[in-house]
Amino acid sequence: MSFTEFLQIPELAERYRKVKKYFFLRESAYDVTSACQLRCDGCYYFQGDKYKTRDNRDPEAWKAFFEQEKQRGITYVVLAGAEPALVPKVLKACYETIPLGTIASNGLKPIDASIRYKIHLSVWGDSKGDPQYRKYANGKPGPNCLPAQLRNYKNDDRVIFVYTFNNNNVEELDEVIARIYEEGHKLTFNVFSNPGENGSPLKVVDALKRTREKMIAAVEQYPETVIYSRYNAEVHTQALGLHDLFGCVYPRAQLIQGLQGVGISQSFRSYRTDLTHHAASDCCVPDIDCSDCRHYAAGSAIVSARLNQHVDSESKFRGWLDYVDTYLATWIMGYEKGSNLYFGPSSAGVSAQLRTESETSPRARVGDVQRV
Ligand code: SF4
Ligand code: SF4
Repeated sequence: MSFTEFLQIPELAERYRKVKKYFFLRESAYDVTSACQLRCDGCYYFQGDKYKTRDNRDPEAWKAFFEQEKQRGITYVVLAGAEPALVPKVLKACYETIPLGTIASNGLKPIDASIRYKIHLSVWGDSKGDPQYRKYANGKPGPNCLPAQLRNYKNDDRVIFVYTFNNNNVEELDEVIARIYEEGHKLTFNVFSNPGENGSPLKVVDALKRTREKMIAAVEQYPETVIYSRYNAEVHTQALGLHDLFGCVYPRAQLIQGLQGVGISQSFRSYRTDLTHHAASDCCVPDIDCSDCRHYAAGSAIVSARLNQHVDSESKFRGWLDYVDTYLATWIMGYEKGSNLYFGPSSAGVSAQLRTESETSPRARVGDVQRV
């Protein structure tokens, strides 16, 4: 069957129409401060030298800067840092200029309710694990973020929790998901991706299969709480990272390969706190080792942009529709996720491309992956 024929199937056509409305989004990412209360193991921000830039603290300068970004065609912002909640005036300046976006936060300080961006609250483990993985800047065990996050964001419809699986915390999800369910919040998943320079003890070495099974069980047991799909779980728990599976679309990866960018790679920039950016680090997680990249934000762009790699079987197309539906429900205020359409690699297509770590032989070369 072809793409055109898949669209003759009513549930697939309806879902494709639903997600296609958001193809207009043009995203960029902004580190808005280098301050943070914590120093988490393998934090993506405190790697490389980007955190050494001098912060621009002038809200008027940020306002003018976001106006320029809007003129550049940016319709969607991802505000991260270190900890964006520590610079409320910058958040306000951005929201008043570009009203669609997401803030990535540790949730220890509430963000003003008037800022109607999605808020991604990061969770790294349960009440025992979280304080060990997420220490204070002085090296002491951290506060255990979840209770503070739940207090600060009770009944807040902007929030989605993001649980990052690492090599040691697969079972810790149980305590976390039960609390988030009780509070009526939503939860999605990330997979720890190793920073390139120093690496981290949390690097996923032998937990991919367990992580996948845990994700799928959570999707089935908590359908109202978990914003995820079976296809997401399969994609993010391969022995190969996203770049080797699909070919990363961010400027950083395109530049390394000497490719002319298309789509997001033409407009995406990753700005530092001094309002500068460099093409060589223009991706959503600039100090991650590309060969270990399973990051949820990276996947949102990479997999969503690779429709052409998902149209040679109905099973793959269903998986892609679930993935994009999940991505939009995670990142867009008010977008409701539909029921999942993909139930597993029943046809040869998906299972041939996506193999478990036990089955996967040496790394595919990047050049082997089909490009848009
Ligand atoms: S809270 Fe976020 S920015 Fe701060 S150290 Fe942890 S991961 Fe890094
Ligand atoms: S770290 Fe991930 S998102 Fe960034 S360039 Fe590499 S593969 Fe792409």
